Amino acid sequence: MDYDVKGHLHQVLDVLPEGVRLVAISKYHPNEYIEAAYAEGQRIFGESHEQELRQKHLSLPKDIEWHFIGHLQTNKVKYIAPYVTMIEAVDSLKLLREINKQAERCGRIIKVLLELHIAEEATKYGLTLDDCRELLEAGEWREMKHVRICGLMMMASLTDDSEQIRREMSTARDFFDEVKAKYFDAEADFCERSWGMSDDYPIALETGTTMVRIGTAIFGPRVY
Ligand SMILES: *Cc1c(COP(=O)(O)O)cnc(C)c1O
Repeated sequence: MDYDVKGHLHQVLDVLPEGVRLVAISKYHPNEYIEAAYAEGQRIFGESHEQELRQKHLSLPKDIEWHFIGHLQTNKVKYIAPYVTMIEAVDSLKLLREINKQAERCGRIIKVLLELHIAEEATKYGLTLDDCRELLEAGEWREMKHVRICGLMMMASLTDDSEQIRREMSTARDFFDEVKAKYFDAEADFCERSWGMSDDYPIALETGTTMVRIGTAIFGPRVY
């Protein structure tokens, strides 16, 4: 392996304050890159394709916590439900229902984050703030015993305008506080704010992230 995963991993870990966890985004990177990070103690990895995740889950150490970070089609939930730790990008009630159903079949509780759509163009996925309010207000999620809503996830716009990124992340932060107070006040598990990627995680650290999702800055450019 000619890429210095260990060095890059530590550059990131060294600047993360206490209480902020790293999800190492390993999509499109080979097992040996993941093993190099694992050897340094990294245990949380994120993937965005079901088949790639399955291959890696089968061939890598079983104490890895896998986070599914991409857009997840409902018909794929059953494949990852037996082992995935967290599904980060829940963007519909339909998906939430399916995760609950498949987790129940496996006798598991799957942690999830609700994905917010705040960015102008980074992604077409995610719940608008009003969609998210509506989903929580409707309350069906309270009956879902096999999913645990642990917080919110978002991607900021792909832009060089750091003020715009800061605005978007601050909006997510304020929204977190709003729904925390209204729906999750008594729920210690609702505590995660997943934002910050390779290019914008320094801003995320200033806007209350608890979980950065970093790929390129650790593993180098992806070869698609
Ligand atoms: C790929 C991806 C990341 C990591 O992006 P980098 O720029 O490589 O750090 C983070 N979050 C999501 C949702 C992704 O799809």
